[in-house]
Amino acid sequence: MRLPPTLGKVNMSQLQDSFGRRFHYLRMSVTDVCNFKCTYCLPDGYKPDGKPKFLALNEIENLVAAFGEVGTQKIRITGGEPTLRKDFTDIVRIVADNDNINTVAMTTNGYRLEKHAKEWYDAGLRRINVSVDSLDPKMFYQITGENKFDEVMRGIDAALDAGFERIKINAVLLKGLNDKDLPRFLHWIKSTPIDLRFIELMETGLGHDYFNAHHLAGLDIKLKLESEGWLYDLPSVDDGPAQNFSHPDYQGRIGLIMPYAKNFCASCNRLRVSAKGKLHLCLFTENGLDLRDLLQHESQRAELIERLHSQLAQKEETHYLHQGITGVTKHLASIGG
Ligand code: SAM
Ligand code: SF4
Repeated sequence: MRLPPTLGKVNMSQLQDSFGRRFHYLRMSVTDVCNFKCTYCLPDGYKPDGKPKFLALNEIENLVAAFGEVGTQKIRITGGEPTLRKDFTDIVRIVADNDNINTVAMTTNGYRLEKHAKEWYDAGLRRINVSVDSLDPKMFYQITGENKFDEVMRGIDAALDAGFERIKINAVLLKGLNDKDLPRFLHWIKSTPIDLRFIELMETGLGHDYFNAHHLAGLDIKLKLESEGWLYDLPSVDDGPAQNFSHPDYQGRIGLIMPYAKNFCASCNRLRVSAKGKLHLCLFTENGLDLRDLLQHESQRAELIERLHSQLAQKEETHYLHQGITGVTKHLASIGG
């Protein structure tokens, strides 16, 4: 890839913070809009705040190019529901065409997967996380507000047919709702090569009441899995904060994301950019720093990279979720989960 001439003087080293953590993974949100109403995220559905203008394709291209220059190798496209963007396939292509990015991933509610999996695969998408909070259609509806369980499951099959190798399923286990689904999930991955990821509910601006009613400690799930013969896998460089488990009798694997666990932040390897172009060093600490003024033209890349380096120096060691401090995160649809 041809570099703009100004980049000669720029610090092109990999993004790193003052605690020695290196960042090769970017979660890029492309919209806040969502068509689901997950009770833990957007219980009343998406409500536009004025007339939001999400990143345009040229801004996304400049963003991806700058991150790629300073060590980003993997980009996850997320939202809101990223696939609601009409130009979603173009976004995939922009990321996939960047020589520095070797993995293009997305997180989706699976709603448009059945129809478009092949098109997205052909555009360069290689990893998909689909959120499936329950394998019981009624509970799925109760949690997501949408009666779309069958469509989403057909979407997963379509993605496997299209060539996606290992699909990850995200499920937020919620006390009093889908917590009884654990055996069903386990039964599913016994003979299906699916990576199941249980995400511990994180407190957001929804408030303490929902959290207190439904939070299920990830540690309890971990103990249960271990008692049933699941074995902890040593982490690979790409794992980030997930703890992974496998079992000789199962084709699928399990990952636990436990943001309240000790040392969760020590293996942080990811940065986030919101759909309006703000850099978030952590899901839960700060307001986000605007990058958009420097996303307008390729000639601004040197300045953009300098801004990224100087911001990284300010990344804090850990979040303050334990103290109930959720930062500005009203819900994860606004930053991309
Ligand atoms: N709409 C897409 C989806 O649902 O997969 C992508 C965006 S969503 C914000 C990304 C992930 O964040 C989903 O797997 C969702 O379950 C998770 N999530 C949202 N709010 C959460 C919360 N309060 N605690 C834990 N996970 C949450
Ligand atoms: Fe939408 Fe995803 Fe939030 Fe559910 S978790 S409301 S699908 S953004």
